[in-house]
Amino acid sequence: MIHIIGGGLAGSEAAWQAAACGVPVTLYEMRPVRPTPVHQTDSLAELVCSNSFRADKIENAVGLLKAEMRRLGSLVIRVADETRVPAGGALAVDRVRFAQGITAALEATPLVTIRREEIPDLSLSGDIREPLIVATGPLTSPRLSQAVTEFVGRDHLYFYDAISPIVLAETIDLGIVFRASRWGRHTPAPAETGLEDHAVSGGGAAGAPGEGDYLNCPMTADEYCRFHAALLGAEIATLHEIDRERFFEGCLPIEVMARRGEDTPRFGPMKPVGLVDPRTGRRPYAVVQLRQDTVAGDHYSLVGFQTQLKWGEQARVFRMIPGLEAAEFVRFGMIHRNTYINGPTVLGPTWQARHRPSLFFAGQISGVEGYVESAASGLIAGLNAAALARDEAPQAPPRTTAIGALGHYVSHADPANYQPSNIAFGLIPVMEGAPRRRADRRRAVAKRALTQIEAWRAALVVPFEMMVMHRGP
Ligand SMILES: Cc1cc2nc3c(=O)[nH]c(=O)nc-3n(C[C@H](O)[C@H](O)[C@H](O)COP(=O)(O)OP(=O)(O)OC[C@H]3O[C@@H](n4cnc5c(N)ncnc54)[C@H](O)[C@@H]3O)c2cc1C
Repeated sequence: MIHIIGGGLAGSEAAWQAAACGVPVTLYEMRPVRPTPVHQTDSLAELVCSNSFRADKIENAVGLLKAEMRRLGSLVIRVADETRVPAGGALAVDRVRFAQGITAALEATPLVTIRREEIPDLSLSGDIREPLIVATGPLTSPRLSQAVTEFVGRDHLYFYDAISPIVLAETIDLGIVFRASRWGRHTPAPAETGLEDHAVSGGGAAGAPGEGDYLNCPMTADEYCRFHAALLGAEIATLHEIDRERFFEGCLPIEVMARRGEDTPRFGPMKPVGLVDPRTGRRPYAVVQLRQDTVAGDHYSLVGFQTQLKWGEQARVFRMIPGLEAAEFVRFGMIHRNTYINGPTVLGPTWQARHRPSLFFAGQISGVEGYVESAASGLIAGLNAAALARDEAPQAPPRTTAIGALGHYVSHADPANYQPSNIAFGLIPVMEGAPRRRADRRRAVAKRALTQIEAWRAALVVPFEMMVMHRGP
């Protein structure tokens, strides 16, 4: 028997996968007995905000992730495909039919029992060898949050997300932007440390060690004034009541800083001190710093630019920053309530807790971001919990697949600066001899990933025919 707490995207997918392997599952969902501040129905897998599962082409990382999930028999993606509505290149769904479809599929699965109750702790079955998946999402109930805090330690469970936008390195104009660390305090070059150089360059803007750790977008006084005015006039996203809470002073949205005074951002994250623009030989009036976000150096985040501006407004206003005029955004900034563990200190790539292998975390609480990523983690956690219940070894998909890269990120990212991530090509290892053109390179990586996920699926101990039978036509 497997116990799964939380009937959202991750928990529903996990239940389906485990039952598909022939293992009985009890799925505990606290709604409608105990509501969350955001969910509005008692359906399983309710979409709390947008109705989009984002891009569907394999040249886009989330499109590749979906393609892999289809090959692994994902319930979430199957029902999303069945309930899709027109949305250009994206997979968007009729949210009511989607959630009803997931609920109906699980209710009709004999091996799945659904119980409507809040689970307050991690001792559900009384037998800690019995697999337990915690998939209670960003709005995990307070009592269970407390129990998770006790398990992972106070410093390893977070309740808030303040995310700065991330841009694709190759869309940054390096003719304007300059590389430097404030006061020249960069990470030492190998010659300075005597260590070997393990830096990886993924064809992005990664600089040679010793050159400076940041990319700096310099602004003149005029450019700064126009940018400040645009920040003041930009539209803020519609906020849920839970996201109206007071912000930490150290983590203010950039537009809130701008409202406090024209110079506030310039004395905060946009301060130019310690930096000299090599093209003018002078200190700029203000600076936006970009910090490398992936080992490959193909993603950079805007330092201190957590924001609640609408995504379209972020694109419009942040492209006013010199050097970012043509920037492509890999992820937009956000600030929202989110309960998540520091994955790298708690989890392995199989989504098992390192100190209690029968305990799995999946979905947003495990430290991923997004509907598809949550369901993907539930998929692997469900398969692995089933493997454990059948006395087989849990397995992680290859890191060269999108779904494997996600598990690797959650378990291996830098724990000191851990932030939940959407899937991105920057998380998948670079491919030897890949084509230079971005679209061709991505297609090649995607092709490799799809071949490998099929090989991984074929090698699973549970015969896939059995899973197909369970899934029906
Ligand atoms: C306000 C908000 C908006 C978001 N918008 C988007 C978006 O537009 N697009 C996107 O891709 N992602 C979005 N996300 C992020 C994330 O992808 C979703 O939250 C997603 O639903 C996460 O899936 P999950 O399965 O981890 O959690 P959920 O889908 O939230 O499922 C968790 C379930 O666990 C239940 N539960 C909680 N505690 C207990 C307990 N103790 N016992 C039993 N049941 C419990 C909850 O009732 C819930 O049904 C948003 C998040 C928030 C908070």
